[in-house]
Amino acid sequence: MIDISQFRIAPGTRVDLSRHEPNSRKGFEGGKKDGKKALPGLTKTIAGLQRRLWAESEQSLLVVLQAMDTGGKDGTIRHVFRGVNPQGVDVHGFGVPTEEELAHDYLWRVHQHTPADGRIAIFNRSHYEDVLVVRVKELVPKEVWSRRYEHIRAFEEMLSHEGTTIVKVFLNISKDEQKERFEARLGEPDKNWKFRKGDLEDRALWDAYRAAYEDAITKTSTDHAPWYVVPADRKWYRNLAVSSILIETLERMNPQFPDPEQDLTDVVIR
Ligand code: ADP
Repeated sequence: MIDISQFRIAPGTRVDLSRHEPNSRKGFEGGKKDGKKALPGLTKTIAGLQRRLWAESEQSLLVVLQAMDTGGKDGTIRHVFRGVNPQGVDVHGFGVPTEEELAHDYLWRVHQHTPADGRIAIFNRSHYEDVLVVRVKELVPKEVWSRRYEHIRAFEEMLSHEGTTIVKVFLNISKDEQKERFEARLGEPDKNWKFRKGDLEDRALWDAYRAAYEDAITKTSTDHAPWYVVPADRKWYRNLAVSSILIETLERMNPQFPDPEQDLTDVVIR
């Protein structure tokens, strides 16, 4: 386990991403090899906690994953949720909205995928795109997106009051690391499919995206839906960090196996 308090953004703190080191491996003694060895123990713990959440079926967990392109959202999901029962977990990616989605308010498509009791939902991108790409690319006027932080806070507060625990993770990579990951996508035929020329337009807007992230995280990190800024240049450390966040969160939720319906002590199976 890594101490996750170092990643957590306390409500009301003004976030300055330049003060968050993407290459950090603070709180872990050892290097990549040790880090990779430590992960299975954590994923096993997550799997055990998820079994209890599923069995209890009285509360749910929403994990929001956000990152710049190549930030490692997909890899994080693959590694961290390796051990869980797929029946109890839903992953939703949020891409460019469809015509139908655009004809509704921006939270409409998101609300449909929030987790039911006993389940974990993972958002690969989320309603935060509506104050990130939408702001940076000026898809709606400022007066429209600037009101959304308040909506989002209220929406998440409502979810938490109704039994959904929320954690939000920003995978923080450096611009140099992004360059290397894009180069790998171009250089390795198996990764070509992941490369879109449009990604480079977003890379050119790096500073505007960072500013939008800083604002979003600052304005929406709350006690009921905290943001964690996770160093993500080293994939093995990122996996340990996100796993630690999930374990601490699920332990705090403390799901319990339900009591059996009746006393089972004298049941005999013939
Ligand atoms: P990813 O890049 O996460 O692997 P995709 O290749 O499907 O997934 O990209 C999703 C794209 O959809 C991103 O470029 C993102 O900015 C865009 N997108 C997501 N939500 C919105 C939104 N609300 N408005 C406009 N674009 C969005």
